[in-house]
Amino acid sequence: MGHGVSCARTGDEHDYFRAAQVGDLDALAALLAADPSLARRATLYDRLSALHIAAANGRLEVLSMILDRGVPPDAVNRHKQTPLMLAAMHGKIDCVLKLLQDGANILMFDSVHARTCLHHAAYFGHVDCVKAILSAAQTTPVADSWGYARFVNVRDDHGATPLHLAARQGRPGSVQVLLENGAIVSALTGSYGFPGSTSLHLAARSGNLDCIRKLLAWGADRLQRDSAGRIPYAVALKRNHGACAALLNPSSAEPMVWPSPLKFISELDPEAKALLEAALMEANKEREKKILNGTKYSLPSPSPCDDDDDASSEVSDAELCCICFDQACSIEVEDCGHQMCAPCTLALCCHSKPNPTTLTLPSPACPFCRGSISRLLVAARTSTAAASDPDPDPDKAAAASPQLTHRRSRRSHNLSSEGSSSFKGLSSAMGSLSLSKLGLGSSRTIDSELVDKPEHDL
Ligand SMILES: [Zn+2]
Ligand SMILES: [Zn+2]
Repeated sequence: MGHGVSCARTGDEHDYFRAAQVGDLDALAALLAADPSLARRATLYDRLSALHIAAANGRLEVLSMILDRGVPPDAVNRHKQTPLMLAAMHGKIDCVLKLLQDGANILMFDSVHARTCLHHAAYFGHVDCVKAILSAAQTTPVADSWGYARFVNVRDDHGATPLHLAARQGRPGSVQVLLENGAIVSALTGSYGFPGSTSLHLAARSGNLDCIRKLLAWGADRLQRDSAGRIPYAVALKRNHGACAALLNPSSAEPMVWPSPLKFISELDPEAKALLEAALMEANKEREKKILNGTKYSLPSPSPCDDDDDASSEVSDAELCCICFDQACSIEVEDCGHQMCAPCTLALCCHSKPNPTTLTLPSPACPFCRGSISRLLVAARTSTAAASDPDPDPDKAAAASPQLTHRRSRRSHNLSSEGSSSFKGLSSAMGSLSLSKLGLGSSRTIDSELVDKPEHDL
């Protein structure tokens, strides 16, 4: 097709692609008016259309102008990459949204590694693009023909899913969004990386602590071996990622795992979810501190705990959680209406690590009345902390964390309550994950956990 083009035509083409690249709408309009066929041309070597060039450079107006002329959104370049793939690689979210809105196909595979736009967005860690593509996948024909879960776990020609790529590249934001949308945490690669690697192996290789934290909190198995027989711990050690290795060491305490398979957890309202997530992060951070303490990898503590002594005195005894007698009630159980704090709610729901093959968890009951839990809500509170937070959205996590740090200053109170029969009864009702695992008990019990043998499924 490229043969026999006149000099004048290639000159116009050059101007046309140049205008698309720099976003010169006037020049573009004039060139298209003179020769409408320019809209469907591609560069000679890379076979880039103006759509590709506009998408990669984030030229939304150019993209819209060409799409509005009826040019189909899924032209492919030399590597069978669509404009959507290029926009996803470069994190041009406006162009991603426009292309999706105009019906761009999310299930195209490039010829380099047979990767989709979701692979590219995850690989480069453009979280907004990952979210946009996933949201499109829920409404487009892909959901009907392929199934949403299958799309989230789509593999390239080396068996790498978007989660594998995000973990390997150290993209914790992408890892989080993919896990929340059904990415299988235990999926093995084909020949990508070392054959039979999990996302945890790949995160261990990249040495990204945040990715490792998130994968562990979603139940990634520290004992899974790749086809060379190595567990993720060995991979991190070999790469000299010391802090990662400490967390991946099977003899260090098990992290608390987000109880994703529970129905009322998957249906949490955003505010309750943020509270519980903050509690989970806090609990795992405490555990991490214990693991890394004394090693040269100990984490810096940016917020001194002494600062919130004033705040903690505002929590009146009447609002205290009746399980830990330590923190304010923030979560309400439906339908019975009983209240407890976020860490205690998590302790109740995370009482055992879900079996990764079946992902089943026995549903916990309300610790007060043994009634079944249909929903978890944010408890209505009258404390100043709640009242001073009229717009919960941006500050949800921040609003939750001050309460979580109260416990240190109040620890002296709960040591005495530890002996009370009601406390013992409730904590045993919570199964194997005791309150001390949340850092709510004495430091003595936490230390003893470090030498515990890890629980795992054989
Ligand atoms: Zn509590
Ligand atoms: Zn109840």
